[in-house]
Amino acid sequence: MANSIAIDGPAGAGKSTIAKIVSKKLGFIYIDTGAMYRAMAVHLTRLGVDGNDFAAIEANIDSADISIGHENGEQVVYLNGENVNSQLRTEEVSSMASKSSANAKVREKLVELQRKQAKTTDVVMDGRDIGTVVLPDSNLKVYLTASSRVRAERRYKEMIEKGEQCDLDTIEKDIIERDHRDMTRENSPLKKADDAVEIDSSYMTIEEVADKIISLYNNL
Ligand code: C5P
Repeated sequence: MANSIAIDGPAGAGKSTIAKIVSKKLGFIYIDTGAMYRAMAVHLTRLGVDGNDFAAIEANIDSADISIGHENGEQVVYLNGENVNSQLRTEEVSSMASKSSANAKVREKLVELQRKQAKTTDVVMDGRDIGTVVLPDSNLKVYLTASSRVRAERRYKEMIEKGEQCDLDTIEKDIIERDHRDMTRENSPLKKADDAVEIDSSYMTIEEVADKIISLYNNL
């Protein structure tokens, strides 16, 4: 087994930004598992599947061939050979991913892919169940949180900078709903692993959080 750092936490806690910095500094590969659930959601959305219809979800899992690659240090997700990176971040896909990821068969398929990646390569992997389920023997487990208001404000700022229309309260409500679904689902709910280090990033800069994780890793 290669070396790994597992970073779990709720939506918008800064996991991917921080995981990217940490992986670059340590020379590890960054694996964004949320993007894999999002690629499955793109597949289901295209087929017009209802996110609450588990039978319809399960009937369409096998026709999704999901794989990942890396180009210029960025993870690229392929759905049946097509690079779908530009389609992963819409509200429709976020909502579908949050629902379809609760399905055990969806998880089984993607967890297998995630473990395969981590077997031979040093990785920083982020998601919801990395420290608890996917890589329970990770060298370092981090549970990254921030208050829902702070997370909503960060998302709001990002959207405003992109010139998108949005409302802070609506974004916060959506974040709270997604957290609730992730934390209360039966299969691999989001929770802090017993041996994870919890970092609340509400009042920390991105660099401070990344430095803390690197120092934790270097002092193992
Ligand atoms: O992290 P991100 O917001 O991109 O993840 C999209 C969705 O995929 C989340 O809302 C969550 O429900 C699901 N997910 C998961 N397990 C992971 C990563 C993401 O259930 N390891």
